[in-house]
Amino acid sequence: MQAGDGRCPECGVGLRTTDPRFVKWCDRCDWGLDPSKQPTKDTRVARYRRRAEERLVRSLFEEVRDRQELKPGRDLASVGATVVAAAIHLLTLAVFVTGVWMLVAWWRNPFAWFPALALIGVAIAMRPRFGKLDGDVRRLERDDAPRLYALVDRISAELGGPRLEVVVSADFNATAGRYGIRQRPILEIGLPLWNVLGPQERAELLGHEIGHFVNHDQRHRLIVFTAVQGMGQLHYLLNGRVHWDEDLAFFSAVARTVLRGLSAIPYALGTALMLVTLRAGQYAEYLADQLGSRIGSSQATVRGLEIALLGTASLRTMDTAVRRQVHPDELWRIQREHLASVPPIEWERLKRVAAKRDLRVDESHPPTHLRIELAKARPQLAAAVVVGRTESELIDKELAPAYAQIAKDLREQSLRDLYY
Ligand SMILES: [Zn+2]
Ligand SMILES: [Zn+2]
Repeated sequence: MQAGDGRCPECGVGLRTTDPRFVKWCDRCDWGLDPSKQPTKDTRVARYRRRAEERLVRSLFEEVRDRQELKPGRDLASVGATVVAAAIHLLTLAVFVTGVWMLVAWWRNPFAWFPALALIGVAIAMRPRFGKLDGDVRRLERDDAPRLYALVDRISAELGGPRLEVVVSADFNATAGRYGIRQRPILEIGLPLWNVLGPQERAELLGHEIGHFVNHDQRHRLIVFTAVQGMGQLHYLLNGRVHWDEDLAFFSAVARTVLRGLSAIPYALGTALMLVTLRAGQYAEYLADQLGSRIGSSQATVRGLEIALLGTASLRTMDTAVRRQVHPDELWRIQREHLASVPPIEWERLKRVAAKRDLRVDESHPPTHLRIELAKARPQLAAAVVVGRTESELIDKELAPAYAQIAKDLREQSLRDLYY
């Protein structure tokens, strides 16, 4: 299909897309709307699962939209998930203790060593793994960025959150989490996102992330997700290839079948926990959005989420600039100019693409267009923390070394992608 004469090949209306940098599409009949979309062929199980997920996402959205007041709280299912997850961790501990006890009690008997060590091994594989901070982030000391820390502290105080440590990364994203055994609260700010946000949207973003600490949703998520991981490990172990002697081929086939059958138990349990906790996770995101709005205003939430829709395109622009060998300082200006130059028709396209994408239950976040819709539908909130343009610029100034460092990281990333 061609649209060489500037008309839509589907409905014949004149196309409003004139900028060659952006996708050519028809805003009347959606011709050419999403060139990146591949036709998908799903199995029946996958289709069924997707429809179940869509229903889950949709019903949660409608429930949250129509509720009088949004407050943190758990439904029965997610309390149940936490209890089951805690039981799994206790069981892991019991397996470990039994293994050690067997070793100690029967250390004279070498035949007891194998089962004892096997139990210890299984428990170690199933142990909860605390998230480690991504190796690609860069620490930001309080002395290096006093204004940013002052803003973070101010928003955290407003919401009743903890004292945070800030790290920066090359992601078009921001996250908040607790890391390591000590579970230190850390806020990660991706500079490619931070760079294109206006002052109020920055406040909103910090409000959203700090909101996760205030609502304590991560603690619940940590207990359940580590249990889901444990179940995954157990499933893997039971399914794994144990090497047996040739003479024992028959027994090995029987043992393998039995183990594989058993492995369905941790698989089913892990999947069930996952689904229950996905709903809780998406609810937590809506709540965090609301706290973000309280800090930065509902308008800032909408604008920030719309900018998030531009994510990949924005990173691509930077990548192209990196390959043209522009000076690192230029990179950030180019990204901002790209954002400012996006025409209304392209914004419209991005919103329609987002709305048409499957209502996937991705790892944690509800679909962006539903978050936008919710922020518009809920009672409008004014900003509790007003960030001036000057303050925002001064923060960028003190972040200059961090921007330079991340520009270097982006360059290295780009080279890696080019050669590997
Ligand atoms: Zn058309
Ligand atoms: Zn979030």
